[in-house]
Amino acid sequence: MEEKNTYIDKSKHTIHNSSNDLDLYLKALNSAYSGIIITDNMQYDNPIIYCNKAFETISGYSHNEIIGHNCRFLQAQDRSQPQRQLLKESIQRGEECKVEIRNYRKDGTLFWNELFISPVKNEAGQVTHFIGVQNDITARKKAEYDLREEKAHVELKIQERTKELQEKEIFLSSIIETVRESLLVLDANYIVLSANKHFLNSFKVSSEETLGKPLFELGMQQWNIKSLKELLTQILPTNNPVIDYEVDNIFPHIGRKVMLINAYRIEFEGHYKDRILIAFEDITEKKEQDQRKDDFLSIASHELKTPLTTIKGLVQILQRMSPDHSNDKFVSTLDKMSAYVDRLNLLITKLLDTSKIQSGHIELHMEPFDIDQTIREAIDNITLAVPGYEIQLSGTTGAIVQGDELQIIQVVNNLLSNAIKYSPDSNKVEVRMHKVANFVKISIRDYGMGINYQDRLKIFERFFRASHIQKKFPGLGIGLYVSHEIIANHNGTLWVESEPGEGSTFNFTLPITNNDESHGA
Ligand code: ADP
Repeated sequence: MEEKNTYIDKSKHTIHNSSNDLDLYLKALNSAYSGIIITDNMQYDNPIIYCNKAFETISGYSHNEIIGHNCRFLQAQDRSQPQRQLLKESIQRGEECKVEIRNYRKDGTLFWNELFISPVKNEAGQVTHFIGVQNDITARKKAEYDLREEKAHVELKIQERTKELQEKEIFLSSIIETVRESLLVLDANYIVLSANKHFLNSFKVSSEETLGKPLFELGMQQWNIKSLKELLTQILPTNNPVIDYEVDNIFPHIGRKVMLINAYRIEFEGHYKDRILIAFEDITEKKEQDQRKDDFLSIASHELKTPLTTIKGLVQILQRMSPDHSNDKFVSTLDKMSAYVDRLNLLITKLLDTSKIQSGHIELHMEPFDIDQTIREAIDNITLAVPGYEIQLSGTTGAIVQGDELQIIQVVNNLLSNAIKYSPDSNKVEVRMHKVANFVKISIRDYGMGINYQDRLKIFERFFRASHIQKKFPGLGIGLYVSHEIIANHNGTLWVESEPGEGSTFNFTLPITNNDESHGA
């Protein structure tokens, strides 16, 4: 206390610098980073009697503009801050205090002042001075403010997003409820999380018997099918969906049904990744209709075949019986008749083939045969029938194939006659034979009209014909279906590569019989 009185001359509001010590202290104060002021509490309105350099820098005022003023000039017009009241009360009580207060520089710009004031008392205990230490904390305040803003912004975003998701979820579940398909949502342990109305109605079950139960225990364990289970367990780890899996079962309450199952992993904008959506389609009706169609086809073609065989016989008798002197017209008419009967017979045989294939009644007469020779002969026969056409054959396989040679010839004939039929503006077809690993691969390439993507997807279905060719080219839409089934029955594959206007390449593979098998038994 003694020392302080020596330094500050209250009457002149300045600090004497008569001693070396004082010089040192002043230098120290001026090199401080914080703004420091001293006010004289014994004078009217507590004026500032000292300020250091940093205070000038922080406030933007010069020493002369500061000395003699009350500190409030730093608050400009911003006088309603609660911190100001706190400051005032502390000064009145002669106590120290610390506030963070908005102050304004000389140029009017705002700065946040972290102000610490501390009273200086004389021996009688009177507060003679206050020392104020100030730090410009604008940057910190801004960072705090930005952080608060950011937090508020993020919270708002989260609220909006949650609301959006809730709305979407409601939207989604309302779709699930309204679709005319039976749907279940499962968790990662195949427990039913939700079942839509259509499911409950179709299977005549209540939500109590369904929700919270494992899928494989529903009904009388209707879905506890080993192969289905294997497919379903792959959905989450591999994201591979289950597509068109058929279940033919007797269900409690609803009896025998054929159900088509499709199952997918649900991912909804990064949410619900571990859930599975299963759709059940009741295809019992469709199956029955298909069956009726097949039955009709099979009966009709049998019924047609019988009288046709008789007609063929009668034509043959007429041909044999025709007198030597019968005119050319008579003979050629009979020949034409015979040819048309043959064509009709062929068509009916094809129809019979489809129904046999469909019912799984087609028989395979498996024998080893030389595929190169078979293909060569098939090409030769067609070339004879279509003289204007050039069928180029390249490659050999040197392979022996175990199969029904007649059926393979049927496939080659179907593919070659299609290649010719659907290439009205070209007269060339190329056939290539390769050996690929332990398969033979036969490719038949034409330069015809080609097949668009949508049609390519359906081309091997029964009775499918591309719509734009229906009227232009005769056909039943059977050949490719039969060929596809024949190749599949031989453990090979038949597929097409094609672009509209650029022709098509039909390829099929057949496994090569190893030597032991072909010559052994
Ligand atoms: P069909 O020839 O009697 O119609 P297919 O089953 O042999 O029956 O062929 C089915 C359909 O596939 C055809 O109607 C045709 O639209 C298309 N198609 C088959 N082969 C070719 C080909 N080489 N080029 C273009 N389209 C083809």
